[in-house]
Amino acid sequence: MSDSIFSVPRGTNDVLPSEAPLWQFVEQKARAILASYNYKEIRTPFFEEIDLFARSMGQTSDVVQKQMLTLNSQKQNTGKDKEESVELALRPEGTASVVRSYINNRFDKIEGLSKLFYIGPMFRGERPQKGRLRQFHQIGAEAIGPGPDEALLPYLDAEMIALSTHILKALGLNQFILKINTLGSLESKAKLYEYLKGQLTAHITALCPDCQNRFHKNVFRILDCKNRECKAVTSKIGLEGRAWLDEASAAYYKKVKSLLTDMNVAFVEDTHLVRGLDYYMHTVFEISGASLGSQDALGAGGRYNKLVTDLGGPQVSAIGFALGIERILLAAADTLKPEASVLDVFVIVLDEAAFAAGFNLATQLRNHGIRADINFKIASMKSQMRSADKSNAVYAAILGADELKAGTITLKNLKTGNQVSLPISDEKAIKEAILTRTD
Ligand code: AMP
Repeated sequence: MSDSIFSVPRGTNDVLPSEAPLWQFVEQKARAILASYNYKEIRTPFFEEIDLFARSMGQTSDVVQKQMLTLNSQKQNTGKDKEESVELALRPEGTASVVRSYINNRFDKIEGLSKLFYIGPMFRGERPQKGRLRQFHQIGAEAIGPGPDEALLPYLDAEMIALSTHILKALGLNQFILKINTLGSLESKAKLYEYLKGQLTAHITALCPDCQNRFHKNVFRILDCKNRECKAVTSKIGLEGRAWLDEASAAYYKKVKSLLTDMNVAFVEDTHLVRGLDYYMHTVFEISGASLGSQDALGAGGRYNKLVTDLGGPQVSAIGFALGIERILLAAADTLKPEASVLDVFVIVLDEAAFAAGFNLATQLRNHGIRADINFKIASMKSQMRSADKSNAVYAAILGADELKAGTITLKNLKTGNQVSLPISDEKAIKEAILTRTD
């Protein structure tokens, strides 16, 4: 692509200045909506002890087994005045880090329910393809805390799902499918596990080698497998009656569904949706984009109460989701039209003698909050005007020989062509003219 000795690392992208406004637009919209549900931003490190991910996502998960991008082991103080080597990895997802921080910072002693969100890069050593990167970005939300009444948890689940779809809709996405399912309580989930094992026993040899392994380690992951042979086997497993669900879990799920309907959040039920990570229970959901190809997942989430205790924390309720920004950008490519960044004024000087005065004017205007730039090259009026147009400036402040002699500038509105003459020393008047667009 270029003559540089180095290329961008495989599976990563530069976000170029022409693309950055799109990213800013997505992030700002998401922030505004997250704020309207009272979510507060949390920023955790981009790397953590690898064991945190192994513990949370499950040692046998594909991400931990195959996709961890590890760093050289580093000496780290283990807290007992002892330095030990710990292996670190770039974070493949956000939930584990947020939960670690929740526990470390004793959030449960501060508030009943912590509504936390993050926006940032995640890293997985996957085989790159369209929509699948090694560094990608997520918008994630987590609601964790001891506060919620047991009976009101379905409301929190419904709110969380509604929040994820609200963000997508605000970004102009309407062609997505929200799939939901329940794994039920931990007891129900254990029953489902046994049921799946029973159903799959006779078909082990028809499964891909990975799934044959999963059969022994975590049978749920077989339902997530994209392999055609595995899908053929799993599609025949009857899950419709949800016979393994205990009564309370069935009522919980029913309530979530009726709330979503009340909230006008369209969904389909998918009994085969289990989200293969160890930590999920009760409500799980996935959102796929209709216009995306094989990598069609826009986001996913679910309830994960047990993860907090698994990581040494208190017994609390926890639910969250993550949306992939690159996938959103792919799906919304035609609808997102953020405004190009605008410069208020482009200072034009026509000779070296005027440059210092022009440079000073740009400096003063910036100090007054005006977005100003100047060409660091003396060039003809025509060429300077081209630069001003290219910069998307609303005004050109022209400082030629006549203006320099008279101590003025000509402020020209590049959209209307109108112009006024103002004293160069009167930055306030220049600022006023620019901001009020008086011409
Ligand atoms: P997951 O934790 O795998 O369910 O990921 C949540 C969301 O992040 C997915 O639905 C995707 O939108 C996005 N995502 C996950 N992995 C990647 C990847 N390798 N490249 C781009 N986006 C990804």
